[in-house]
Amino acid sequence: MHEYSIVRSLLARVTAAAQAHGATAVRRVQLRVGELAGIDPGLLASAFEVCRNETVCAGAVLDVETVAIQWACRGCGRGIAAGDVLRCPECGVPARLVGGDEIELEGVELEVP
Ligand SMILES: [Zn+2]
Repeated sequence: MHEYSIVRSLLARVTAAAQAHGATAVRRVQLRVGELAGIDPGLLASAFEVCRNETVCAGAVLDVETVAIQWACRGCGRGIAAGDVLRCPECGVPARLVGGDEIELEGVELEVP
């Protein structure tokens, strides 16, 4: 499943960060997931629970912040609300997607002895 491969690569990155800082455990993993990223939050949470065992994240909490879809004008950068006509009212050029398709590691809380 998609969510499992995302969680595995996430855990690999968090483990590398924990090792780099000499951490013994990870308390919290914060993730930003866009509405268009095609992620099921429930599946992501259960994939995390399965995959975190025997990693430095075994006791970690997964925080997922959902990021709304955002559009902006290609020309002037003016924000355009999702659901509006996807064209700038000033310039008349088509909008481009500027947010809502990301899967980003936002932060990690480490336990450093
Ligand atoms: Zn514009």
